[in-house]
Amino acid sequence: MNLILLGAPGAGKGTQAEKICEKLSIPAISTGNILREAIANGTEMGLKAKSFIDAGKLVPDEVVIGIINERLNKDDCRNGFILDGFPRTIPQAEALDEMGVQIDRVIDIEVPDEKIASRLSGRRVCLKCGATYHTEFKAPVTEGICDVCGEKLVQRKDDMPETVLDRLNTYHEQTEPLKDYYEKKGILHIVEGQEKVEDTTALTFKALED
Ligand SMILES: [Zn+2]
Repeated sequence: MNLILLGAPGAGKGTQAEKICEKLSIPAISTGNILREAIANGTEMGLKAKSFIDAGKLVPDEVVIGIINERLNKDDCRNGFILDGFPRTIPQAEALDEMGVQIDRVIDIEVPDEKIASRLSGRRVCLKCGATYHTEFKAPVTEGICDVCGEKLVQRKDDMPETVLDRLNTYHEQTEPLKDYYEKKGILHIVEGQEKVEDTTALTFKALED
């Protein structure tokens, strides 16, 4: 099954991508990861991407799409794949269609903005060992200190309230129109994100079947 996962930043689509990946034994392909992979492997498109990054520029759509094309042609995608974080815009979705990539299902994880904002703004990370915490849902034993290594916890710039609002606005403007795009194709399935990850996963699995 060829899948696309949609959802605002912080809606938990990365987690759901992992769950589907385990259940269906198909790879979850996230743009950030394959970009890093292509650069590390020095593929044709990877080298192109690197030239933009080294120049401090955004990697243009055609290069990202080229890298996705390279990745989807690998053997492990024969039985399907999950695209996580791509497409983000209508032109990217059109490019995917033009490439002849058949998409069977699009699963959109929906979480209200207020909930995302409170989830993300409570997130704290340890830069030393990579442990993650949440002031409300997964608090460290001592406030502001990493349980694992004793380092002081920090809030990532991505999780600060202003940045979160910016990211949500960008999502609503650029990515949300994709819901209509795939609805018209009759392949959109909406999953309401729940408080507990396992409840969301149950709904996601259901959306794979009906
Ligand atoms: Zn730590």
